[in-house]
Parts: sequence; structure tokens; C-alpha cells
Amino acid sequence: MSVVPISRSYAPDALETRVHVRGWVLRSRSSGGILFLLLRDRTGALQVTAKRDVVGEEAFRAAEHVQVEGVVEVEGTVYADHRASRGRELRAESIRVLAAGEPFPLWSEQTEEFRLDHRHLTVRTQELVAMVRLKATLLRALREFLDREEVLETTPPILSGNAAEGGTEAFTLDYFGRPGYLGQTAQLYLEALLAPHERVYSLTTSFRAEKSRTPRHLTEYLHLEVELAWCDLDGLMEFIERMLLDVLHELARRSPEELRQLGREPAELAELAGPFPRLGYADSLERLKAKQFDVHWGTDIGTAEERALTLEERAPIFLTRFPKEIKAFYMLETPTDPRTVEAVDVLAPEGYGEIIGGSCRETDLERLTHRLTASGVNVEEYAWYLDLRRYGSVPHAGFGLGVERLLRWITRSEHIRDTTPFPRTPARLTP
Ligand code: ATP
Ligand code: MG
Repeated sequence: MSVVPISRSYAPDALETRVHVRGWVLRSRSSGGILFLLLRDRTGALQVTAKRDVVGEEAFRAAEHVQVEGVVEVEGTVYADHRASRGRELRAESIRVLAAGEPFPLWSEQTEEFRLDHRHLTVRTQELVAMVRLKATLLRALREFLDREEVLETTPPILSGNAAEGGTEAFTLDYFGRPGYLGQTAQLYLEALLAPHERVYSLTTSFRAEKSRTPRHLTEYLHLEVELAWCDLDGLMEFIERMLLDVLHELARRSPEELRQLGREPAELAELAGPFPRLGYADSLERLKAKQFDVHWGTDIGTAEERALTLEERAPIFLTRFPKEIKAFYMLETPTDPRTVEAVDVLAPEGYGEIIGGSCRETDLERLTHRLTASGVNVEEYAWYLDLRRYGSVPHAGFGLGVERLLRWITRSEHIRDTTPFPRTPARLTP
């Protein structure tokens, strides 16, 4: 008899038929010659009962000694049972131990630190199982959306010989005797790929040597970056809004159980609708002053400010047109106001803050060179980037989305490390 997924035993026509399943033991208890196992595979969990006088003394004794997370295979018949959590149980006719296992070292009362040290095992717990699945669905939904929008997936490098934005947050490495850097953003490469392809994206790992420990910074995160030709700031916001609404609605539709498990009612995502509020930087200062923040023109909108601006919101908001001096050199000056740039940050609601940073890019060689020089970086390192403005430069805009930032808001996670199986933070490089 061939092995079937555990979910098969819940099919309407599975009642009183024989099945052969295998999986990991979630719980086990025996009394008076009957063994009760809760068995899990990737498709679900099923209660198994095995009687000593049915499966035989030797098999019964072996099964009795299986530890939590040990592995067994069972052949038996599916019955309705109102005492089982999902109304079905498998009565074993034969049971075989595939891996008895040692006592599983994790249980729920342990400290967060202990669980992080055992992350290779913690990934089996319900929350992380749900998170990893939700993340997979999110990535699929993002790719499907971008595909429909005819945005081409491309593969920029991660290793490079210069650090993109100044370099204070870049990890350096020894590249055969010369300095190399781990990528913080693929933007400049995407801009190069823009001329032949017009609409491009990449979904790659970005690295940031963030010194500060915050609940929203990882040192390694998954970065979705999109670059669109012929796009202005309104076009960019319209694209981002459509993308976010699309993937949030898809998550509600495809992963309702995972969402609930992680603390988000799917309906809250399904009901989200545009347009998302749009708030200029200047207006955000007024709002912050009203909330007793000591801010002025040029103040960076940090974590505390973002939290204050979004605590009461239910949908993401667009924060636009920041002062030039607090934003990157490649951002396009606002045509009607030389003090600001055509930049937009998307802030997640409920206090979670920035999930996307985007802007229109400067296309003029002279102005770009001027801004680059003023920003104090080594202009020579950007020679190839400046070339892009020499040969067929067109208006374009792009953004970067932190996948774990988005998940953190969706799942109301306290810390961004809860959204990824093996988080990397200043304090943690293993497992
Ligand atoms: P912050 O001010 O929060 O550090 P940033 O301005 O450095 O963010 P960008 O350089 O604009 O961020 O990067 C684009 C996106 O990448 C951000 O909007 C965010 O979603 C994500 N991101 C940036 N740094 C991190 C990080 N250390 N960990 C996880 N995600 C990050
Ligand atoms: Mg940063």
C-alpha cells in the first residue's frame, strides 16, 4: 500500500478505508495497552491509536518509546471520532518506528534566547511553520503580480567592488586581496538593465551592517527591487498601491489559516482598499509637532516618528517629498521645489513604519555628477553608473521593499527576526 498524505484521511470518502501514512510525532500517551499518537506531516496532523493486541507486542513497545519529533509509519483504518481534534482517528493495524529520536529539547516555556540558539529545531514549531509558508505564498504572489505587469525578473550581482550608498553599512570582505562588499541594494544594476528591458525587478538578499539593534533591522534580508522606465512619482505610488493591495488580498485568499495562526484576521487584509493616504514631508512635520515631537525642516523621520504617524492608521500611507539633504544623491529634485526630492516611503500602519523606500531617479548627467560630488563619495567609483546618463537616459523611478518588514506588519510580529527562519542580527550568526 503506498503512502498517502495525512490530509487524505480527512477526505469525505476516506472514512472506513485503509490508509498508509507516515510522519513526525507531535504528542504521545499510552494507557492500558493503547497508544495515542498525534502524527504530523506537511499536510496536517492526525490522531493515531494503536492497540497492543492488534499491532503486536514488539511493534507496540517500540512505538511506545518514540520521542516527540520521532518518526513512525502507520497502516490502518480511518474512523470518525468526536474526541479527536478534527473528528477522525486512524486505528493502526501495523505501526513501524522509522526514527525513535532522542528527547526533543524544545518546549514552550523556554527563553527566546534558548529558542534562537535552537532555531534549526524551532523551525518545526507551529508559528515558524506558518510563517515560512506565508512567506512562500507572499513571494509567489509578488512574482505573479510582477509577471502580469510585464516586469522582468533579473539577477543582479551581490558581490561588488564598491559600496552603493556611501558604505557605512556595507559588509566588507577580502576579494582575492582587494576590498569587496556585500550588496546593500541592486538599484544601480537594475537601472543599467532598464535601458534594454524598461521594466525590471530583482528579488535578492541585501546585507546591511546595522549596528543598532532594533526590532525592524536584520543584517541580511530579502529585498524586492523594482525599476520602471517612463514613470513619475504618481505613477510609482499607483504601482506600489496596486501591488500591495494585490498581494495582501491574495494572502487573505490563499493563506487564511496561516494568517490566523500568526495573529492577523484575513478579513482585515481582504478589506483593505485604496487610495492609501498620501502625506507630504512638510505636512508630516505639522502632525508630529501636534503630537509634541521636536521636529523641524531637515529632521529625519525615524522609528519613533514613523510610529506616531501610523499608529492610528489601518492601511499603509505614502510619505513623500523629503528634503534633499536627508535622501540619496540619485533622487530627482522636485521640479516645483528645489528643496525637496521626488521620493516616497511607504509606512505600514498600526505603528510598524517603513516597508518601502522609493524615488524618481535623476536622469541628467550634470546634475547627477554635482549631487554625487556634494554627497562626498568617490565619484570615480560611480563612473559606470554615470555612463547610464550618457547613453539614452530616460525618466524612471523605482523602489525597494523589505519582504520581512512587510511580513512583520502583516503578522503583527514584535521582532522582524520572527519573520524569517534563520535571522541574522548583530548578535546572531548561527545557526
Ligand atoms: P531604515 O531607515 O528603516 O533603516 P532604509 O532607509 O535604510 O530603512 P532603504 O535603503 O530605503 O531603507 O531600503 C529599502 C527597504 O529595505 C526599506 O524600506 C526596508 O523595507 C528594507 N530594509 C532596509 N534596511 C533593512 C534591514 N536592516 N532589515 C530589514 N529590512 C530592511
Ligand atoms: Mg537603514
